[in-house]
Amino acid sequence: MSAHQCKGPSLQPSSSSASASSSPSARINVFWDDGMLDHDTGKGVFDTGLDPGFLDVLEKHPENSDRIRNMLSILKRGPISPFLSWHSSRLALISELLSFHTREYIDSLIEADKSGGKEICSGTFMNPGSWNAALLAAGTTLSAMKHIMDGHGKICYALVRPPGHHAQPTQADGYCFLNNAGLAVQYALDSGCKKVAIIDIDVHYGNGTAEGFYESDKVLTVSLHMNHGSWGASHPQSGAINEVGVGVGLGYNLNVPLPNGTGDKGYKYAMTEVVVPAVTNFKPDMIVFVVGQDSSAFDPNGRQCLTMEGYREIGRIVGNLAHDYSKGRMLIVQEGGYHVTYSAYCLHATLEGVLNLPHPLLSDPIAYYPENDSFAIKAIESIKRHQPHVSFLRDAKH
Ligand SMILES: [Zn+2]
Repeated sequence: MSAHQCKGPSLQPSSSSASASSSPSARINVFWDDGMLDHDTGKGVFDTGLDPGFLDVLEKHPENSDRIRNMLSILKRGPISPFLSWHSSRLALISELLSFHTREYIDSLIEADKSGGKEICSGTFMNPGSWNAALLAAGTTLSAMKHIMDGHGKICYALVRPPGHHAQPTQADGYCFLNNAGLAVQYALDSGCKKVAIIDIDVHYGNGTAEGFYESDKVLTVSLHMNHGSWGASHPQSGAINEVGVGVGLGYNLNVPLPNGTGDKGYKYAMTEVVVPAVTNFKPDMIVFVVGQDSSAFDPNGRQCLTMEGYREIGRIVGNLAHDYSKGRMLIVQEGGYHVTYSAYCLHATLEGVLNLPHPLLSDPIAYYPENDSFAIKAIESIKRHQPHVSFLRDAKH
């Protein structure tokens, strides 16, 4: 296991970048460890791990190390690099995991690792190296939260895999074993935070995190996701609007299922109309921003249409919430995002937004305008009216 521990380049962010949510010295502290690359999810037909025998080229599982290598390198060498500081991380202790997960569940994962690994649930593979990576992901996220709680920095980003937000207290799910964000939230509560707001923009429902705090009034869990519903025994939650928490936690889980194809404008509308008012009324003293770039227009695992600009705007909105309510304190936790190139670009844009930089640092290499069918209908109607030479069309009766 080798750790990255280096300082960012000497170039300082210019004072012109100062704004509501960032000061001239605003930086993001990134926590990372190379050992998380050792989680090998295998190859097959998409995420099945299956070789049907008639395909010459089997693709890597979507949750592969390449996606994270590009996130790492764009932050190290992209134009945002002067705004970042790098920190090493550590393995989580088994005892730490028990703040969110049950002993029986953790023991079952340890046993699976000892026996050489297996498919824990659909698409979720534990191979040699996976458990160590999962412990590093949890430890990295805990280290990042500790950094904030100890007053060493206000904004931290845990660049982690395997992801965590589907992992429930007793159940692995959706490529996730340990709920990295959930562990960090519990650590914050145990360290003196009174109220934590989690804002999850991964394209899938953050069901594991919601489940962990479903009966709590100290954690407001907010998830914006595509309306995929339950996807099997490992993911019984539906992500629908009627899942609102129970007991004292009633009203503390806010699901925002968005129709397939929702893009930059729709997400911004959801943020300003639903998320901002809810967080404003909740008044958290810590914000955990759970990011997945699988809500981008090009993701193989999502059906939404966010572009870099949309991520930048969401980052800006969440950064402003942190400025207004949590003294600028915010932990950002990495989840999904499976397009090997565009996920890295969208992460870059999100962090630009969090820093509230006045101008984009990086242009979008593959942006396109998400389809708006009202434009297409107008164009088609116009073609129908102004195409006098095609008699079949002109004479058509409807
Ligand atoms: Zn996802």
